[in-house]
Formats: sequence, structure tokens, C-alpha cells
Amino acid sequence: MLSWKVGAVTVSAVVESLRIVPDAVQPVFIPAATPDALRRIAWLAPHFIDADGRLRIAIQALLVEAPGLRLIVDTCIGEDGTAPETAPFLAALAEAGWPRDSVTHVLCTHLHFDHVGWNTCLEDGRWVPTFPRARYLFARIEHEHWSGRDDHDAPAILARSVQPVLDAGLADLVETDHRLSAEVRLVPTHGHTPGHVSVRIESEGHSAMITGDMTHHPCQMARPDWATGFDSDCAQGVRTREAVFAGLAGSPTLLIGTHFAAPTAGLVVRDGEGFRLVTG
Ligand SMILES: [Zn+2]
Repeated sequence: MLSWKVGAVTVSAVVESLRIVPDAVQPVFIPAATPDALRRIAWLAPHFIDADGRLRIAIQALLVEAPGLRLIVDTCIGEDGTAPETAPFLAALAEAGWPRDSVTHVLCTHLHFDHVGWNTCLEDGRWVPTFPRARYLFARIEHEHWSGRDDHDAPAILARSVQPVLDAGLADLVETDHRLSAEVRLVPTHGHTPGHVSVRIESEGHSAMITGDMTHHPCQMARPDWATGFDSDCAQGVRTREAVFAGLAGSPTLLIGTHFAAPTAGLVVRDGEGFRLVTG
């Protein structure tokens, strides 16, 4: 399991799945990221693209252990009916020393299906909160946005992965700059969705940022103007990426990419017109 020390805070990745984006999906996922265009960005190989110039991505949860806090950032796609006791993802969490009832906080960077799935699990045919002792944080404006829509599978996603948490009284609808502790706070990174947030960690002079989906793949560091087909506001997404990468470039802040395949984290440096991730 990949793990990073940020002062007194530890961040670890629990991978739900690793994928190669299929040829048929790439034009929808990141339309500009064709195999030819990707192969021109030499540093993406071999970790972030395969030999055929296809995108590698991870679906993973990031575990943040900070003083007084056991926070899961994003809960992946979730279960398909597997009993919670035998679900591989929850087994991996427990193996990492994070049994379900030890989690104090869950944050969903946004409310797309691959970030909320393990918020709940099936018990006797009902969706119930997976982490019964946790406060679940959702950005208020993100929740308001999706609550008012009937497209993008939003009603089904909310019904399965968000409403049961609200019904159980475990949800906190927070502002996009909410602070969880002395070390951990949210930062607004809108564009991919209207209330999207990233997570900023600062401890003992060290710092890190967990991206969520403000960027899906390191190719968007080389080309911050490459939007995904799933961005709510592509132009805002571009502005957010440019501002975040410019702010981090040359700094010692570790960037941890929610969908970045291993090694997943690195430092941001300027590279020509764009940026590059310098890993290990
Ligand atoms: Zn995602």
C-alpha cells in the first residue's frame, strides 16, 4: 500500500481498482488525450500511460490519519451486493488498520458515483452507512446542485450513497473551505463539479494536497487545458488546474492524485508551457 508522511499526518491509498481507459472511452473521458498526443509527453510513461499510449487510472480511497482524525477521502464505486464482511475493499481497509468503526470522518470531494460508493453498504436489502461512527462531510453547494437535478444518474446516486447518511443523522453539509482540524482543511476547486473540493494538509512545516477530480490524470498537468467529458464547467476546470498547479510549482507541497496510478504522488514543477509531476 502506498503511504506518505506529511509531518504528523500519514496519507495512505487503498486501491479499489486499476484500469486502462479503453480506446472507446478515451474520446469521452479526456477527448484531447489521444494516444499520439499522450506519447508526446514523454514523462507520462511508464506509470501513467501504457505502451500503446492509453491512460492508466486508479479508483482509490485516500486515508488521512491526523491527530484526532481518521478521515477517508472519497469512497470509490462501492459494492454490488457483496456482504460488507466479505467485500475486498473493506477487507483491505481493515487490513490497513482501518476497521469500519474506527473511521471518524468521510469526505466526498464531489458527488459522482466513483467517489461516494462505499458511503453505504447493503444490509438486509437496505443501504445503510458503512462507517457508523463517522461524520460524513459533503460540500453544501455540491449537495444542493445534485439534489436539484434529474440527469447524470444523480437521483440514483443520491438515493443509494447520500440520503441514507443524511437519514442516519451522520451528514454535515459544510462550506468549501471547511477546516476539519489544525492540520486538515478543504479548499474549493470548482469546475469538475460546482461544489468540488480538494484537501489541503499542513503539519510541522510539511504540506500536501489531495486533488479529488480537479485533475483526473497527470497528462492534465502538461496540458491543464485538457478537460474531461464529465466536467460541469470546462472553462472553470481549466482555470482551477492552472491556478492550483501554478501555486504549487516549485514548492515542497506533495500533490496526491485521487485517480493517479502508482506512484500517485509527487512534486509539481513547471515544464515548458505546462507542468510536470516529479515522483519518487
Ligand atoms: Zn472520479
